[in-house]
Amino acid sequence: MKTVAAPFVNNSVILQFAELGRSGHLAHAYLFTGERGSGKFTTALAVAKVLNCEAGSAPAGCVCASCHKIDAGNHPDIFIIEKPEEKTEIVIGQITPRPSQPYQPLLPWLSVKALEARVRVVIIKDADLLNAEASNAFLKTLEEPVPGTLFILTTAVLRDILPTVRSRCQQIQFMPSSYSHLAERTQSGYDGELSSKVKAANTFIDGFILARIDDKDLKAFVEDKDEARLLIETVLMFYRDILLVKMGAGASVLVHKDRKGEIDRLVLKYSKEDIIAIIDQAARVMKGIKEGFNVKIALTLLKEMI
Ligand SMILES: [Zn+2]
Repeated sequence: MKTVAAPFVNNSVILQFAELGRSGHLAHAYLFTGERGSGKFTTALAVAKVLNCEAGSAPAGCVCASCHKIDAGNHPDIFIIEKPEEKTEIVIGQITPRPSQPYQPLLPWLSVKALEARVRVVIIKDADLLNAEASNAFLKTLEEPVPGTLFILTTAVLRDILPTVRSRCQQIQFMPSSYSHLAERTQSGYDGELSSKVKAANTFIDGFILARIDDKDLKAFVEDKDEARLLIETVLMFYRDILLVKMGAGASVLVHKDRKGEIDRLVLKYSKEDIIAIIDQAARVMKGIKEGFNVKIALTLLKEMI
């Protein structure tokens, strides 16, 4: 039987928006791109929550009035546009009033002030389905930003978004959902062996990754081959977790779930390329250890990258 995974929420995107909201650097329009099932829409909703949460952080399952209303689909300042079931596209009546159309149009809603929200959020799900007329009506809105209002468009078919719409949005790429399944698989393979190593790993995370270390400590790592090997395994696992979170995986697939707080902080510190470079360097050190080389220089370089 084929199991269909529920779309997951992209945590690194939510962290980014929480930070942008706090620092006042939100752009007025974003375009979430990525294949179907990669969590674009659920993440857009979660962004609306995190920007308006009364508890401050909108952890999953928050029941503050704002999060609750967004979950229930009746927050007055969150506007969702999606293809009506009976149509094949998003039609002009959903953007601007048209006689005898049963939809609530966006533009009159935008012209009144927010009732409750800190940031009003308009989500256009599958924006590639906007027909030409609706696209053009919406484009005018994008050209004249509405203060205090954030637009999030999602699409799995980027080429079907008008270039004029695309160029006015900041684009955020989502990883394929298969990535999270891959993560689950790799983790289950480690479970048995790893649980006994997690304690030792935590010592390395504190002692090597998060701490400043001096030349003497590095030397100690280099001299004890078993110790060095465990250290590098830890670095590999820990940065694998950071990479997964960066790419949108949730806490459930992490090896170091207990270090989620630190992982979230590091996700903000590094670009995806930084994390991959660190993992590559750690793999190089591991190869050196296995082949019996002196890995001090490689290990020093690794520490500098961290
Ligand atoms: Zn909340």
